[in-house]
Amino acid sequence: MTITKLHPAIDNGFAATDENFQGGTLHCQCKENKVAVKLTAQTAHNHACGCSKCWKPEGAIFSQVAVIPRGNVEVIANAEKLVVIDETATIKRHACKECGTHMYGRIDNEGHPFFGLDFVHTELSADKGWSAPQFAAFVSSIIETGTDPKDMDAIRARFVELGLPTYDCLSPALMDAIATHIAAQNK
Ligand SMILES: [Zn+2]
Ligand SMILES: [Zn+2]
Repeated sequence: MTITKLHPAIDNGFAATDENFQGGTLHCQCKENKVAVKLTAQTAHNHACGCSKCWKPEGAIFSQVAVIPRGNVEVIANAEKLVVIDETATIKRHACKECGTHMYGRIDNEGHPFFGLDFVHTELSADKGWSAPQFAAFVSSIIETGTDPKDMDAIRARFVELGLPTYDCLSPALMDAIATHIAAQNK
């Protein structure tokens, strides 16, 4: 069997979360005039995502994405290169218009369960200590973007081997958080 490539930051194992880590800087993939986004806190809920919307590095079939409070996200260089990929999407993904790298995703709807959190790809940072991936989400969705259904068993097995449980939506903790939010709104 060929080795299943999921994501370059996950395939070879990954460092544990550094509990004392205070953040770092993300850079886009341009050779020069890189967009730089400073994150002034540790990230949370880092995970592999199989949805078609998240940005993936070249050759990866999953993205790696984490959240951070939006108040801890600041564009510090070349902000003029950022464009919103899809203004109608729930998560407005701000990407570098030259290299295509998504620098952060932001939710404007104050009623959304994840309002207040930005979505970021910490592999874009050279800093070490970011929250480690904890699970794989929307795994079945990779079929929609071209993965052969018969490869799914091997892909799920590889995640489990790496210590990451797989889900076809978000993790139970995050699904519970969404449902709790909806229940509170319905009262
Ligand atoms: Zn760029
Ligand atoms: Zn995704």
